[in-house]
Amino acid sequence: MIDNTDDKPRRGHGICLFSGGLDSMLALRLIADQGLRVTALHVVLPVHPRGADDLAVLEGRALELGAEELRLHDPGGEFVELVHKPTHGYGRNLNPCLDCRLLAFRAGRRLMEELGADFVFSGEVVGERPMSQRREAMDLLERESGLNGRLLRPLSARLLPETEAERAGLVDRGRLMSFRGRGRKSQIALAARLGIHDYPTPAGGCLLTDPGYASRSAEALEHGELDYADFELLRWGRHLRLPGGFKLALGRNKEDNAGLRGAARPGDLLLTTDFPAPLGLIRRGDEELDGERLRLAARILSGYSKCAGECVVMVFVLDDEGGERPATTLTVEPLDRFSAEVRELLL
Ligand code: SF4
Repeated sequence: MIDNTDDKPRRGHGICLFSGGLDSMLALRLIADQGLRVTALHVVLPVHPRGADDLAVLEGRALELGAEELRLHDPGGEFVELVHKPTHGYGRNLNPCLDCRLLAFRAGRRLMEELGADFVFSGEVVGERPMSQRREAMDLLERESGLNGRLLRPLSARLLPETEAERAGLVDRGRLMSFRGRGRKSQIALAARLGIHDYPTPAGGCLLTDPGYASRSAEALEHGELDYADFELLRWGRHLRLPGGFKLALGRNKEDNAGLRGAARPGDLLLTTDFPAPLGLIRRGDEELDGERLRLAARILSGYSKCAGECVVMVFVLDDEGGERPATTLTVEPLDRFSAEVRELLL
């Protein structure tokens, strides 16, 4: 509960769930502009495609909008668990949005308690998203996150019941919004009014909403292999399921090859040739890959290379320190990438 017994006006403190998108940017600015302290919290998920410096950009954005600091929360295995078994089901693809939002709100509540802050707020807009921003879903999120009365949605606040922070006079409800629905016109107009011109487009969101990524993830789930590192691997290249259940990933371009190298973990096999060719990555769990299957993988890789006739494929194994230890070298005939044999294995 907010302690409002002190006579002196007190400066409230809100925890902003900050994705870095326009909605959360506006929410942050609306609260910071009222003179409250704001701590921004960003939940780092493996299903958000981002470059290495995106988090620095995000931090700069949060500070510029008025946050005192940006904290990061990496839920690790907790997120993997909820993709496996969401309590509230999936959206159109493999996106467990309600559970995912709950995870973020609970992280916000924990930070609020740790810092002695007054409330948590987010950029949600009533009716903007079909799964997590229906009015009933928003109520459920507030209830199940343990944030009853302490979860503020500045962009739709005037359509929603008053929160404790508003009742206590920490936040002026009259300066909050009553946005509703999927259009972004109101948000764009507000951004212009607040002088916010640099914000991301809504595209390029969560990979679990991408049908291709979602179907590869579902296939990986069936093989019981969707841990945190597998999410990362699924982002890159084309994927094949080899006989025996092993996964072969092949880069389609330089970016994929770099991504696969970055996603490799100890025990993975990396396959390369001297010819222009994709990087191949085999994930094999604890099991050994027999020579026949390794040969098949090398033949498939060669089929995607510029190698004609016999092709020499070098196999390295990634060790615990991230080093690539030579494992073996195979001389193989390329397997036609358009053959039924290869097409059957493609995911
Ligand atoms: S779209 Fe993805 S990141 Fe966003 S709430 Fe849904 S599952 Fe979470």
